[in-house]
Amino acid sequence: MTKTAITRIGTPIVPRNKADPTQSARPVGRMYRDIEQRYLGIKRNLKELFDQRLTGQQRQGNAQQSYLVCNNDDGPASFYKCNAGTYTYDMIAAQLADLLQRVQTILDDALLEGGSQNLWALDYVAAEYERGTHQAFTNLSVQSPVYAQQTTLMQLLSAPAYQNQIAAAYVSTYSDWVGLSDAARADLANVVSDAIGRGINPRETARIISKRLDVSMARAKNMAQTEQVGALRKAQWQETDWARERLGLNTKLLWLSALKPTTRRWHASRHGRTYTTKEVEAFYAENSNRFNCYCSQIPVILKGDGSISNNGLTHKLEEELNLWKKTDSDT
Ligand SMILES: [Zn+2]
Repeated sequence: MTKTAITRIGTPIVPRNKADPTQSARPVGRMYRDIEQRYLGIKRNLKELFDQRLTGQQRQGNAQQSYLVCNNDDGPASFYKCNAGTYTYDMIAAQLADLLQRVQTILDDALLEGGSQNLWALDYVAAEYERGTHQAFTNLSVQSPVYAQQTTLMQLLSAPAYQNQIAAAYVSTYSDWVGLSDAARADLANVVSDAIGRGINPRETARIISKRLDVSMARAKNMAQTEQVGALRKAQWQETDWARERLGLNTKLLWLSALKPTTRRWHASRHGRTYTTKEVEAFYAENSNRFNCYCSQIPVILKGDGSISNNGLTHKLEEELNLWKKTDSDT
């Protein structure tokens, strides 16, 4: 009697903005602005600290054109032009140690605000996790009347599996930010010690420190995007699996690539294909696939033969990929 209604599969909702299939531009932008404010605060506090503590006398004589070298996590080291031998700092080892201790406090206060239990970044990550669950819920609801009848968003958000995923995201997010703050401290300690040792004047030192903070901020933004979009994807994967386990639906993940000029070929080539959650997880565990990735995977319910219910959608996605390949080879 209602068998046809139950087995009929609806078409999945594919985001209209092709360049942003996870629809994360706005939440990522919000977290970026938060990060910018935090680094602005760090710069202000460090300036005040260095103005007070980095004192001494200008040295007479010949300044030596030189470079201060800083290592970068990703890519070659940076070289900053400076004049060595122009300044004598009146600072003993204990004062330097105390200064670096304060640098760490300033960094941690801004980047680890809230601590492991309530880190500021966790709000953003949790919000994306919820948004991903909501998107998966909406998508599965339009595809399956069975799913729509038997699932509520509240039920998903209060499930222990959901709570466990959030808890796991908290742990990894916190350790990401601890790593970032530690790396920034080590980097600034290197600059300050080097500047004092080689007599680079406080003004030049401050300029290099500001540049190093910009490098750290760029890294923070990359990390934030990876965390946010990663949480959104995980939520989509989780609900895809759960719908299969709970309701016996033939779910898989439909890959949507952003197909930007910068999209990696092996990310783009997945556009329009379907994968199991395990396959997708394996992809993201490899190399640096999860960094700077704008791809999305949305739940789809497949027909008995394993194809997407709507042929038109399959063809449309194929055409989009072909168009990208064409423009990609033109450039
Ligand atoms: Zn990607």
